[in-house]
Amino acid sequence: MPKSAQFSEIFDQLPIDQLLEISHHATELEVQSILRRGFARNIEEFAQLLSPAASAHLETLAELSQKITRRHFGKVIRLFAPLYLSNECVNICKYCGFSRNNAIPRVTLPVEKVEAETRILAGQGFRSLLLVAGEHPRYVSQNYVEECLKACLPHMPSLSLEIAPMETEEYLPLVKAGCEGLVVYQETYHIPSYKELHPHGPKKHFHWRLDTPERAYEAGFRRLGIGALFGLYRWQHEALCLASHAWHLNRNCCNAQLALSFPRMRPAAGEFQPEEQNLLPDRQFVQLLCALRLLLPHAAFVLSTRETPALRDGIIPLGITNISAGSATEPGAYSDYDHQSWKPSRQQPGEQFNIADERSPAQMADILRQKQLEPVWKDFDSSLVSPFSPPLPAAQNHH
Ligand code: SF4
Repeated sequence: MPKSAQFSEIFDQLPIDQLLEISHHATELEVQSILRRGFARNIEEFAQLLSPAASAHLETLAELSQKITRRHFGKVIRLFAPLYLSNECVNICKYCGFSRNNAIPRVTLPVEKVEAETRILAGQGFRSLLLVAGEHPRYVSQNYVEECLKACLPHMPSLSLEIAPMETEEYLPLVKAGCEGLVVYQETYHIPSYKELHPHGPKKHFHWRLDTPERAYEAGFRRLGIGALFGLYRWQHEALCLASHAWHLNRNCCNAQLALSFPRMRPAAGEFQPEEQNLLPDRQFVQLLCALRLLLPHAAFVLSTRETPALRDGIIPLGITNISAGSATEPGAYSDYDHQSWKPSRQQPGEQFNIADERSPAQMADILRQKQLEPVWKDFDSSLVSPFSPPLPAAQNHH
């Protein structure tokens, strides 16, 4: 069978101007027709759901999104924690605290320390971790990552990675070591902004990054996470490209579970300020989440601690399936947490971005129960993932 085109080829042909036009000018009739049906059949209909006409029906959209999510995921919300291995990075990403030109203390955790942090998180109840690292081939080598995975697995049954993109062959030993998921953010799908924001380092290569989830799938990862960092370019553009990317992966990586994440810009070292016109306001954030759910009923949706407690509490029941809780974004920080209160005992000068929701994992679990949702700490066993299995929860992402 001929190999299907990778997303980078599809991406260059996307009728993005036409889709943007639809997202701005969809009619009341068009929107009502989708809402009556209860789901979006394609990217054009998703574009209609981003429109001002659809915004006027936010309550109906939210009800539909909630219903679809409960139908496919029940009341379960999966909790995970990010574990930062290293904040060394050779890239300049103008919005990131780890960017190589930021004067922050740099550290790469020794494998023993990674294991110690994993034990601490296991003690808090977590059974699912996302190992995160900046991009530095010398400090965060493939061997190092493999050793970290092997050290974590006895304490943590479900592991995913958010690290520098690699070639398919380089991913193979990581899958063999027992890693289930790979997360990679495109950050922005707008090429001129991407170039402007990533002036130095291997991350400059937009299309190579774009095809990372497909290389990961080929290597055997069965949970794939993608996302855009909202605030870097116009939100409608990012939403349409992210949805198109997810739509493509759903068809071409059909044995993998897909997770989407839609973090919004937070303050970080380097003092990057998003342009006003690129910000995704709260109301449109909810609209985006619900529209995505009407297009992608089986995809996991991930919400990190970048968002405030009030927003998280409001939005989780509407369509979120995976959340991080009690997160630190500095390598080694969990060792300094008080195990009872789950508060850091010192300032965290080397973090990637500021956390907005500082509630502990136990507090988050209580809040979920109060909302009649069921906090779950562990994903299903990877052995359940087969072409014949029902959809499983996917890789979470942080950022
Ligand atoms: S976003 Fe990732 S690649 Fe860019 S500076 Fe931060 S850690 Fe490095």
